[in-house]
Amino acid sequence: MRLANVDGRAVLLTTDAAGIDVEQASEGKFGPDPASIYENWDAFRAWADRAPAGPEVAFTRSRLGPPSPAPRQIVAIGLNYHAHAAESGFESPDRLPPTFTKFRSALTGPDAEVVIPAGGTVDWEVELVAVIGRTATGVSPDDAWGHVAGVTIGQDISERVSQLAGPAPQFSLGKSFPNFAPTGPWLVTPDALPDRDDVGLGCAVDGETVQDGRTRDLIFPVARLVAELSRTITLYPGDIVFTGTPSGVGLGRTPQRFLQPGEELVSWIEGIGEIRQRFVADSAGITGEEA
Ligand code: ZN
Repeated sequence: MRLANVDGRAVLLTTDAAGIDVEQASEGKFGPDPASIYENWDAFRAWADRAPAGPEVAFTRSRLGPPSPAPRQIVAIGLNYHAHAAESGFESPDRLPPTFTKFRSALTGPDAEVVIPAGGTVDWEVELVAVIGRTATGVSPDDAWGHVAGVTIGQDISERVSQLAGPAPQFSLGKSFPNFAPTGPWLVTPDALPDRDDVGLGCAVDGETVQDGRTRDLIFPVARLVAELSRTITLYPGDIVFTGTPSGVGLGRTPQRFLQPGEELVSWIEGIGEIRQRFVADSAGITGEEA
């Protein structure tokens, strides 16, 4: 099953450009707000699995918003692939990897334009994003997938100067400029993937592939990650978890490479689709020193 956010309305997809409006097809039982769907996920799944009928609505990609538009929390994970930990100059974690947030003001849909902060170095990190469908606290790894509504594509866009400045890294701020958390194009339920624990993911800058990995290489796979996080925090329906990026980020290259105005970043995950960001210069042109 695939679920999209079209102009703020939940739509069950029948193709990549059309679907059934959930609120209309369920006669008001579910939706229209996609955020409300996750609060009632089990009942929604049971209804959606009965192949509801309804008038088809067609849409263009520019109308797509984030599949989970109002998460209470956005959790993000660093160093969750061995090769990425190595290129970043760190040992691989044996306990839970570095955990931070991307603030909600950075959340956007699949096809955003992103302003490069003046004086900043902006990098790419394609990631599988899990959307929580059932409150998770102290869940076991065996039960963890049952608390995940589905997955989508995320880009953990990262401004490396502010991320790494100061006495301790500023992961949360450096990764939370406007539109630095694009997600989409839609939610895919785990059963609709070829293998929920092994999908290919990657991204390209102006057509040149820069990341190309597989989620089977996650040090903490989705189920273990959700279980471990839920030992400390409660994960709520609609919360989203950026699960970490494979190797190939610009920071880890020789020479280093960062996104330039005019460049387009395309990110894909097997079985889900792709998202696209175009990068533009900060027209205000005010740097931190001048402000
Ligand atoms: Zn990341």
